[in-house]
Amino acid sequence: MSQGKHVVAIVGAAVAGSEAASVMADRGILSVVFDQNPRPFGKIEDGLPRWHVKQRKKEYEKISAKLARPEISFVPLTTLGKDLPFEELLRGWGFSAVLLANGAWRDRPLPVEGVDAYAGKGLVYQNPFVYWFNHFTEKNYRGEQYPILDNVAVIGGGLASIDVVKILQIELTRRALASRGIEVEMLEFEKKGIPKVLESKGLSWGDLGLKGCTLFYRRRVQDMPLAEYPDGADEKAKEKTHQIRARILENCREKFLFQFHDQHLPTGPIVEGGRLVGLKFVRTQVVGGKAQPLPGTEFDHRTPMILSSIGSVPGIISGLAMKGETYEVEDWDTGKIKGYEHLWGLGNVVTGKGNIQASLKHGSFVAGHVASTYLGVSGEADGPGLYAAQEAAVQETAGKIAAKIGARPVLAMERVEAILERARSRQRQVGYDGNLAAWLAKVTPPDME
Ligand SMILES: Cc1cc2nc3c(=O)[nH]c(=O)nc-3n(C[C@H](O)[C@H](O)[C@H](O)COP(=O)(O)OP(=O)(O)OC[C@H]3O[C@@H](n4cnc5c(N)ncnc54)[C@H](O)[C@@H]3O)c2cc1C
Repeated sequence: MSQGKHVVAIVGAAVAGSEAASVMADRGILSVVFDQNPRPFGKIEDGLPRWHVKQRKKEYEKISAKLARPEISFVPLTTLGKDLPFEELLRGWGFSAVLLANGAWRDRPLPVEGVDAYAGKGLVYQNPFVYWFNHFTEKNYRGEQYPILDNVAVIGGGLASIDVVKILQIELTRRALASRGIEVEMLEFEKKGIPKVLESKGLSWGDLGLKGCTLFYRRRVQDMPLAEYPDGADEKAKEKTHQIRARILENCREKFLFQFHDQHLPTGPIVEGGRLVGLKFVRTQVVGGKAQPLPGTEFDHRTPMILSSIGSVPGIISGLAMKGETYEVEDWDTGKIKGYEHLWGLGNVVTGKGNIQASLKHGSFVAGHVASTYLGVSGEADGPGLYAAQEAAVQETAGKIAAKIGARPVLAMERVEAILERARSRQRQVGYDGNLAAWLAKVTPPDME
């Protein structure tokens, strides 16, 4: 008869966190899954733009089904570093292991000296902007509001920046039509593209008198991370990826009519009356994959708003050391965090990929790895996936590591019960009674898209 159990803490209940909890549950390991938000869907709800109607619903269902498992205690409205001090989570609760699946919710700062002083005064970052787009149609939305202006400059080049540009162009055109008494759904714009919608109303882009937004990218079109090189790509395969990248951009431009400049690097703010009213740019040449300024090509670009979409990084957690923009990861495959015996990162926290499948596979891999090599609880090997090579290596070394450190002793049932009671106490505090379906029905705004 079992004398006890392992209980792991997981911070972040979305794609990676719910998957890790489910992998643990498959092995009889209990988990307490904390999330800062009332709903456990992370960037599926607050990142992936709301025109992905079917995909969002499908992912919501998958996450909910995992979190509803009896081995998993979901604790909403609990922010690590605020409601839940890091040291307390790490040692005070007495968990067998701690997994950070808290994604990348902080915008990488725009590397233009002095520009951050104008956040909210001409400078807007991608994360709060996309959050606004996904929620502003709700009647009870009380968050930050963003105006939709013409001639916005977007700094970026990755897939998320293309979404930002689409949001700006769709909303700009939708509102321009609405002011003429023509109502068109956002989804129709996204599906058909702006020219077709306008044509169906007997209008053209030129008729609206709009400039549209401009996307600035520091390197060349072929360098845009819109498609990844296949594994082990040779020159020919790379060239094909370059063509795919150019085609993706061109298709988007045809459908959403934004302006685009590659090889442009922002170098300084233009400020008037305490507001950011533009950026200084310099043209670049790409040498060894890096954008280098071309002297003598400097110019000023004036714009009513700068939207920075140059990547997202993990949030700062008081008590947890950072190395540059991210946590001090000791091993990028297993997500092991340096300096701690029982702390790992998983999903977007570590992959930085901003990709649902990558988060899912990494979440599954890290949970399996922690369970077998650290907690000494083996399970059926998962099928080959993104992390197949690492997985094979883990299977091979699992026995050796386990023999060396010995499997962690399970927690005595009194401790297990104490942890679960503490989790229940926090659930009561935030008004969650442990019934996920009922909770979601309660906290989901009726008009949420
Ligand atoms: C604009 C945009 C478009 C995208 N489009 C696509 C796409 O088309 N296809 C695709 O595959 N992917 C896309 N992605 C990326 C994808 O949505 C994410 O990579 C994926 O959902 C990340 O999952 P995750 O579980 O790793 O992290 P997240 O979903 O970020 O989950 C982290 C969880 O941790 C919680 N959390 C954060 N900090 C704390 C804290 N301090 N305390 C407690 N909880 C915390 C959050 O509330 C969240 O629930 C897009 C992302 C964006 C922003």
